[in-house]
Order: sequence, then structure tokens, then C-alpha cells
Amino acid sequence: MAYDFDLLTLGAGSGGVAGSRRAASYGAKVGIIEGRRIGGTCVLRGCVPKKLLIYGVDFASAMSEAAGFGWTIGENTLDWGKLIAAKDHELDRLNGIYINMLNNAKVQTIEGYGVILDPHTVQVGDKRYTAERIMIATGGHAMIPDIPGKELGITSDEALDLKELPRRILIYGAGYIAVEFAGIFNAAGSEVTLAYRGDKLLRGFDEEIRDHLTATLSEHKIQQWPETTVAKLERGKDGIVATMSNGTQITVDQVMFATGRKPNTKGIGLENVGIAVGERGEIPVNADSLTVVPNIYAVGDVTDRMNLTPVAIAEARAIAETLYNNNPTQVSHLMVPTAVFSRPEVGVVGLSEEGAILHGHKVKVFTAKFRPMKNTLSGKTDRTLMKLVVDADTDKVLGAHMVGPDAGEITQGLGVALIAGATKADFDRTMGIHPTAAEEFVTMR
Ligand code: NDP
Repeated sequence: MAYDFDLLTLGAGSGGVAGSRRAASYGAKVGIIEGRRIGGTCVLRGCVPKKLLIYGVDFASAMSEAAGFGWTIGENTLDWGKLIAAKDHELDRLNGIYINMLNNAKVQTIEGYGVILDPHTVQVGDKRYTAERIMIATGGHAMIPDIPGKELGITSDEALDLKELPRRILIYGAGYIAVEFAGIFNAAGSEVTLAYRGDKLLRGFDEEIRDHLTATLSEHKIQQWPETTVAKLERGKDGIVATMSNGTQITVDQVMFATGRKPNTKGIGLENVGIAVGERGEIPVNADSLTVVPNIYAVGDVTDRMNLTPVAIAEARAIAETLYNNNPTQVSHLMVPTAVFSRPEVGVVGLSEEGAILHGHKVKVFTAKFRPMKNTLSGKTDRTLMKLVVDADTDKVLGAHMVGPDAGEITQGLGVALIAGATKADFDRTMGIHPTAAEEFVTMR
């Protein structure tokens, strides 16, 4: 039977676009369906705009540190609206690049939302398209807990588009998004309160890293209310009044929910093909990203495996390699380096100390905690923390962790070392680059 497409992709975010382009490059006839702008969460509502805002607000700390190096900086103010407009301009450019990339790859873009009718048919508006295979890459959305007055709050989507900088903001949650936005608003000059139900930030990360970041954000005057939930939100005379689980109230200009994300699976016709979602609303898939339907695949956040852009891209490209390049490829979800762009940053690859012990390793731990050289003159009191978790029996480095400036940049290289199976002895025989912070990773004893 002749289909309209060899591969039809639902969702033109990072995963969908990458997999579609790769498949088309091997001669497959590919269509991609998108109801919003081409580019997806990372490019338009996540990683990219967030990082642009971080670059913008980081000038504040650079200016405050400059005096120690002899600079006299005059009065300076941040025009938040201008920063948002500059960011939007860049997003328009990137959106255009994504559209061009798809066109150049001869991937047909179809505007609208796709509903799967049967394993080979997808409806978009009043049109039906047939395909030999379908790839679901519909991503996820912010989850807002069901509390009275929740409609008064925003999510990271709206926070990236605020026309005015809130003077006071309450951020609810303690994950990646909560700590990243706490850093952005704090550096921009807002009074930031972080409320979360756990005892410290970033559950799942190494405990020492969590302690260090939690303490550093407090030193940065980010108010933290651990073990506290938001009970209700109301509009008050002077802003939004949040009542917390312990009865305390706080009045702020914005409340941002950063309480996790959920896969986008509603309304895409999963029930028509017998795909049942899992406990977290995710589409269950096997190691080939194949669903229970033998010609329907799913990648990225909609599968809730590891919600990171490079992982979604790798999963989608693996499908294209396997199906259209005779190159069977699977993605390993182990040893995936990641960074949290909090201020200071967190970089991680591999196992935490607790995770390694849980996996049955006997561990040796090496840490370095120091004042970065730049802070000696700037007067900034932040300390950097680095940590290696090593298997005591094999000497293999199981995990590398850092809180400090450029942690993301440094961790990328460590990722290569750990993937290659580096031992602590390999780290020890590597010369340091002096003077850097990163050299501490090869001088720990
Ligand atoms: P996370 O899962 O990281 O954090 C969610 C936070 O919300 C946790 O503190 C969690 O608490 C809390 N929470 C969840 N449900 C509730 C609830 N019902 N009431 C109160 N609190 C709740 O999600 P994020 O939204 O921060 O980020 C989503 C994903 O996006 C991340 O996991 C990450 O994979 C990705 N991401 C990656 C980035 C990067 O690479 N730099 C940046 C931003 C996002 P608890 O811990 O107690 O469960």
C-alpha cells in the first residue's frame, strides 16, 4: 500500500525536527505536524530564552564585582522590557532557521494538531494523512497543582514573557526550573521567595551538592521556605496573597509554579490505537523508542524518560538511523551529563554518592571546596564545590559533580571522560590547566 509519508512526526520540537530531518536525509518521505510555532519547548519556551535571560541578568553580578578590580561603574539599571524584546527577536530568528532547516531537508510541514485515527492515519483539521510509520514527539507542559486561586499564578512559559520585572515573586517548587528562575529574578533585582515541599533544593541530586546550592541561594538573599506548600492564592489590595501550609501569608506581584511537567498526550488519539499512558502520563516505549503499536514510536518529554533536549534529539535520530540508514542504534540513558543553570550553576554526570551506594558500589569520595580566584578581589563570598564519586574496587569514576561558575561548560568535558570509563588514576595523571577552577578535578587527593 502506498502511504502519503514514510514517516509522519507529531510535534516540531527539538526531537521531532531532528529525527524528521535525519530520516529525510536518508531519502525517507517525511511530514511533520505542529500546531504552534516550529521549534518547540527548548527553543521557544525553555533552554534558549532562559539562557538568554541569564546572560542578560549576569551583567548585574559582573558590575558589582568590578569595583574590586578598580572599576567605577556609574548608575545602572536593567530595562527588563528591552531584554525581553531582544530575546523575542532572537527567538523569531531561530524559529525562521528551524523552518528553513525543515524546508531544506524536504520535510513537509503541516500546520495544526494531529490526531492519530489508526496506526497509519493522522487527521489534521479536515485533512487526513497516511504514513507507514508515526513518531510522537509532542513534548510536555507545566503542571500546576490544584489549589484555590491557582489561576492567579503563572508558569515558566509566561515568566519568560513578562513585560515588567516583578518586584516580588514567589516561586513554588525546587527542581531545575524553580532554581533557574529564582536565579534570574534574583539577579535582575526582584525579591525572590522559593517555597517547596521537600527539605532542600534539587531532589535526586547528590546530597552535598543540594546542601551547597541551598545554602548559597540563601546567601544570595533568596528567601527559602522548605517543607512548605502553597495552600491558596488570592488577589489582595497590594498584590497576590499566598497562604502557605503553615498559615503564613506572603504578598507578591507574581507567583510562578515550577512544580514539574507532564507529557502532552491528550487529544492526540492514543486511545484509537490502544496506547495506554503510564502512571506519570507518559507514553511507554521500549529501548528502540517503540510503543506497543509496532509502527508508532515516541521520543522526548512525552515518554518522560530523561527530559533533556539532547536526549530527545538522540532518541529521534536513533529511530531514523535504525529505520532509514540500516544502522541499528539505541540511546543509552546512563552517564548523561546535565547542568542546572542556577546562579551558581550545577553540573552533574553519573551517580551521586547516595546513588552509587544504592547501586551496591563501595565508594571513595573526593571533594574540593574553595573560593574561586576571581572572588579574592571581587569580594564575592561564593565558594565552589567539586566532588568525585569513585568505585573503591575498580577505581572507576562513577560520578562528577560541581556547583560553581561554568559548571555546565566544565561538566561537558567530564562527561566524555566518564563515558570512556576514566578511573581516578586517569584523572590524577591528567595535567591541570593552571590557573583554572576546573583543574581542581584533577588534583583532588
Ligand atoms: P522537576 O521535576 O525538576 O521539579 C519539580 C518540582 O516541583 C520539585 O521540587 C517537586 O517536588 C515539585 N512538585 C511536584 N509536584 C508538586 C506538587 N503537586 N505540589 C508541590 N510541589 C510539587 O521539574 P521542573 O518543572 O523544574 O523541570 C521539568 C524537567 O525539565 C526537569 O526534570 C528537567 O528534566 C527539564 N529541565 C531541564 C533543564 C536543564 O537541562 N537545565 C532546565 C529546565 C528543565 P519534589 O522534589 O518533592 O517531588
